[in-house]
Amino acid sequence: MVQSTNDVRVETFNFHEIVTLIGGDTAKVYIKEATIIESPEGVRKIGDLVGHLDIIYPFAGLDLELTLDIYEEMVDEDLDINDGVIKLPFVEDKILLHDLFFYRSFMEEQKEVEKEMELLYIKCSCGGYMMPMYDEFPNWITFCSRCDSRNENSEASPIVEP
Ligand SMILES: [Zn+2]
Repeated sequence: MVQSTNDVRVETFNFHEIVTLIGGDTAKVYIKEATIIESPEGVRKIGDLVGHLDIIYPFAGLDLELTLDIYEEMVDEDLDINDGVIKLPFVEDKILLHDLFFYRSFMEEQKEVEKEMELLYIKCSCGGYMMPMYDEFPNWITFCSRCDSRNENSEASPIVEP
């Protein structure tokens, strides 16, 4: 259960992340949400506890619900950049909090694009969109942006039958 207090904020993610396990296999980890401890001055020291990350981790056929600590670490010494870092079990690469935020906004943008496409174009059975072949005759021939199937509406054809 997540309790909202003045100095804790909850960031919801709800997406999958593919991670590479030690040994080379991959695992599909579900990133649920992070509980971030607000730092009053907005500055964190290396080693500070940033908060917790709730994930679902597939292990031996089970979906394990884990809560992992997020610690402030130096992630780029040349550029002197710190970030909240999460260490997953059996995974070498650490997950950066910044990357989770970035991915979340990327996904939100994708959803917006998807919404716009749904308004503008008819959906193909494969999940792609039927785009006009010729912008000048948008209702004539359409093709799917994904599977390339085509649709011709002869009534909208600019070619005049003899
Ligand atoms: Zn298609």
